Amino acid sequence: MLDRAARIFFQLLAGSRTLKRLGSRYGMRRPESFARRFIAGEGVQEAIDVARELEARRLHLTLDLLGESVTNLEAAEAATRQYLAVVDAVVQSGIERNLSLKLTQLGIDVDKASAVDNLRKILERAEPAGFFVRIDMENSPYTDVTLEIFETLWTHGHRQMGVVLQSALCRSEADLARMNALGASVRLVKGAYKEPKSIAYQNKADVDAAYERMLKTLLTSGHSPAIATHDSRMIDVARRWAHERHVARDSFEFQMLYGIRRDLQTSLVNEGYRVRVYVPFGREWFPYFMRRLGERPANVSFVIRGVLGEQR
Ligand SMILES: Cc1cc2nc3c(=O)[nH]c(=O)nc-3n(C[C@H](O)[C@H](O)[C@H](O)COP(=O)(O)OP(=O)(O)OC[C@H]3O[C@@H](n4cnc5c(N)ncnc54)[C@H](O)[C@@H]3O)c2cc1C
Repeated sequence: MLDRAARIFFQLLAGSRTLKRLGSRYGMRRPESFARRFIAGEGVQEAIDVARELEARRLHLTLDLLGESVTNLEAAEAATRQYLAVVDAVVQSGIERNLSLKLTQLGIDVDKASAVDNLRKILERAEPAGFFVRIDMENSPYTDVTLEIFETLWTHGHRQMGVVLQSALCRSEADLARMNALGASVRLVKGAYKEPKSIAYQNKADVDAAYERMLKTLLTSGHSPAIATHDSRMIDVARRWAHERHVARDSFEFQMLYGIRRDLQTSLVNEGYRVRVYVPFGREWFPYFMRRLGERPANVSFVIRGVLGEQR
């Protein structure tokens, strides 16, 4: 209940311009500023520096240029150009070639065909260079269109791509069967958005139970599955299930967000599991940051301490 209330509260705050202004002023300006715990920085070079630190700790990574919900084609094209520049910068840097992106950033709200074109441009630059590109899953109005675009590009031969499914949505188990039949790589998450009860589980226990069922299906019938969670209970279920079913440790991976459960990331690597860290960066970091606060209100006191520290 508290969990749900916090999520709604932070989703409302994410729309506040005043907070956004304050956040931009204090959140990112120094390496120790509070938003830096979850966001690598505003520029690609900062993200590459973080990626190098992660690789030194034997972690894998995926870079996410933050941005979502663009409202005109120019902004979608600008985001596409930025992604192309990220591809080039990553190639030059020599770090692992793996990206995550959102369709609303590429203009899906403005014009579907243009958004598909934008995504295709990114894939055409990234795939020959050996990148893997994961399409993040946004809130439920985008579930159908995201899966549909993914399937279309997949059948046109774009195979270095994957999708995300959210256990919070009641439909996701059927979507998982569909993606497994296609042969696509799925990242399984609980879901970061508040969704109506007509289509989504409202209790954490139900979301977790669906997550557990889905992770078992993924481990036995999925294709390069990614178990994306910081929940040590879910991680234990995955390890036990993989062990019992003789699923090789290098045939799946755990994924976590930058700055969250670094201890768990390291201990899994030490046990021989593959762990990928999602590294967000860019100037549009505010909505992402607010979703992370909403997931764990304890983070708020950390932020308040950071802001007070900054103002001294
Ligand atoms: C790699 C990755 C990619 C993702 N991509 C998407 C996506 O495309 N679409 C989408 O809807 N969601 C995405 N998410 C977010 C996801 O849906 C959840 O909102 C988020 O992972 C929190 O859920 P949890 O599984 O960690 O479990 P919870 O049950 O929420 O948390 C379990 C434990 O993890 C720790 N924890 C969780 N969140 C935080 C936090 N913010 N700060 C500090 N500690 C925390 C706490 O110890 C908590 O007790 C992604 C998550 C990851 C890890």
